[in-house]
Amino acid sequence: MTDDLDELRQQVRDLADRWQAAGRFRPVCDAWLRGHDIEFSKEMARHGWIGITWPREYGGGGRSNLARLVVTEELLRAGAPVAAHWIADRQIGPAILRYGTPQLRREFLPRIAAADVTFCLGMSETEAGSDLAAVRTTATRDGSGWRITGAKVWTSHAHRSSHAYVLARTGGGERRHDGLTEFVVDLAAPGVTVRPIIDLQGEHHFNEMIFDGVPVPDRWVIGEVGRGWRQVTEQLSFERGGLERVMSTYPLLRALARSVADGAEPAAVEAVGELAARLAALRRIAWEIAADLDAGAAPVRRAALLKHLGTTFEREVTETARWVTGARPDPTGDGLPALLAQGILAAPGFSIRGGTTEVLLTLIARGEADLVR
Ligand SMILES: Cc1cc2nc3c(=O)[nH]c(=O)nc-3n(C[C@H](O)[C@H](O)[C@H](O)COP(=O)(O)OP(=O)(O)OC[C@H]3O[C@@H](n4cnc5c(N)ncnc54)[C@H](O)[C@@H]3O)c2cc1C
Repeated sequence: MTDDLDELRQQVRDLADRWQAAGRFRPVCDAWLRGHDIEFSKEMARHGWIGITWPREYGGGGRSNLARLVVTEELLRAGAPVAAHWIADRQIGPAILRYGTPQLRREFLPRIAAADVTFCLGMSETEAGSDLAAVRTTATRDGSGWRITGAKVWTSHAHRSSHAYVLARTGGGERRHDGLTEFVVDLAAPGVTVRPIIDLQGEHHFNEMIFDGVPVPDRWVIGEVGRGWRQVTEQLSFERGGLERVMSTYPLLRALARSVADGAEPAAVEAVGELAARLAALRRIAWEIAADLDAGAAPVRRAALLKHLGTTFEREVTETARWVTGARPDPTGDGLPALLAQGILAAPGFSIRGGTTEVLLTLIARGEADLVR
């Protein structure tokens, strides 16, 4: 790692420490999805840490994906409340940068980097989750723009976002994967309804988004009309290739490591040591993916591999913490029992969100087949 990245790491760590010491957040598991605080995101923006890889002309920091990895790793390590800007920083901004017109880039990227615009992700539908090509939401031409009609489900933070990324069907084609198009949708536009879905913990982060002839200007199409499938597949490498697929339970792992520091059973020390070794290997894969992105590649299969191995690891952190400490999970408590409860409640979703294990394994296997062909 260069000194430059070390310095960046220390700056992010200091900021997270300051906020935590001031009682402005408490480290929680799954903070990148559940820890929503627009003030924290604004602070990140003031430091130039949202859109850190984007060109300066679009409000970005002009730095590498390795720099972004350093920032995200420190935030995940701290369990900081980053959900407000996470989706836009991770994948919508990069998608607009890669496929959007210069006009679309100018319109959105600086406002995302300033945390003035926040995005949620409108991909999944009731009959289109793992099978995303089954999307039924439609976008039809209306004068110089489009009208979107349909419903999206499991949309994290739609109720707190200013805009949505929406994958919609704009036409037919030989294959189901043809005729899909990516749009930016203003959630304040007429015809948008956002309904809450309350999860098992009684929390509201999921939503259903209903679109009833929602007007969208033509300039808000991301990339080519009808070529959305290829674009979204590439976008998934941003979604799957980050350390949030490895470190959702890091605050729990840290508490677990502290609990075995002195005089623990050898089996417990060995189990925690094994987790630490696996974390080191997974971090290495994430670094390689960031380097691939810096080289202009879309490491779709390697990202699928990281997500599969990472989510398996995250789940095992929770299971190991349970047997090693014998702690009773307590969602209303503090310290390790609270982190354990958060990990247990979030764990079923680890391997589902962003692509289920079976789908990822198929992708990875096809990659290997490519290699031997
Ligand atoms: C915490 C969380 C946050 C989410 N946030 C968002 C969001 O913000 N935006 C968004 O668009 N979506 C979001 N999702 C939705 C998520 O992407 C979908 O749940 C996921 O793609 C799975 O789709 P599904 O729920 O329809 O399950 P299904 O596709 O019905 O899959 C259910 C199970 O069936 C099996 N299965 C499915 N397909 C295959 C196959 N081809 N081969 C073998 N087995 C298979 C698997 O075991 C799979 O787990 C979120 C989900 C979670 C858990």
